[in-house]
Amino acid sequence: MRLQHTIAGPVLCAGVGVHSGAHVRVAMKPAPANHGVVFVRSDIPDTAKSGDNRIPASGANLGGTHLATSLRNEAGVEVATIEHLLAACAGLEIDNLVVELDGPEMPILDGSSAPFVRLLEQAGRRAQSAPRRLVRILEPIEVVTDYGRAALLPDPASDLLTLDVTISYRDPVIGAQNLVLPLTPETFARDLAPARTFGFMSDLERMRAAGRGQGASLDNCVVIEDGRVINEGGLRFADEFARHKMLDVVGDLALVGGPIAGRYLAERPGHALNALLVRALFEAPHAWRVEAPAEDLAAAV
Ligand SMILES: [Zn+2]
Repeated sequence: MRLQHTIAGPVLCAGVGVHSGAHVRVAMKPAPANHGVVFVRSDIPDTAKSGDNRIPASGANLGGTHLATSLRNEAGVEVATIEHLLAACAGLEIDNLVVELDGPEMPILDGSSAPFVRLLEQAGRRAQSAPRRLVRILEPIEVVTDYGRAALLPDPASDLLTLDVTISYRDPVIGAQNLVLPLTPETFARDLAPARTFGFMSDLERMRAAGRGQGASLDNCVVIEDGRVINEGGLRFADEFARHKMLDVVGDLALVGGPIAGRYLAERPGHALNALLVRALFEAPHAWRVEAPAEDLAAAV
């Protein structure tokens, strides 16, 4: 029977936000079944209305998607760059978690999900007495923009999400890359979690001039300049770029609110495209249903 999971005990980390440059401390704590992942801004007083500083990781709270994914609650309280932690939670099948942070943006750490995976594994997973409910795709849901396309498709033969991501960049250091992967805790931890975020030095300079990327460095970003990766040690995978894009997809799709059973197929995906797809899913309730896996139904009889 596939049960919901939280962590067995609290874990802490700290670091800078890649865009704000703000130093943030984070405490991840266990949460009850059916709670979901909820961010709590401990630097914002919770006085005006109970729960003002709580921001559930749900598509209903989707905020900005420029360069990273942000959430904003009804009181207007935000948390930015949530996708690498949400990817780790979705990848490791941790459904319920409180994430307290004392700043506006999650720390970027090494630019991948690997530090979050290590922390969550260090905390340990604890099974809870409630079944995991799958979001099963029944009909294709597709979004197309000027720069890319993404779709969720039915996959009746599987309870997993299988991801198929193609990226194409003019710069030959990246070029065209395709990756197909069924998402399990093992494939996530091994094949996606270590892949770091990336950028071109020229974009980084432009971003900094616009007040973004204040915390970006070679310690948390693969940087490309003059036709090569300038980080000491080079890449972690030959196709680290496609892997990181897929990691971002896993984090963004976590905002659906449960594990997806289906196929995700995308060309040139990004945070904005993934946010459009999450919204399209919410707007097409006939195209999916929430279900407990068959063995859970059998166990419940
Ligand atoms: Zn990312």
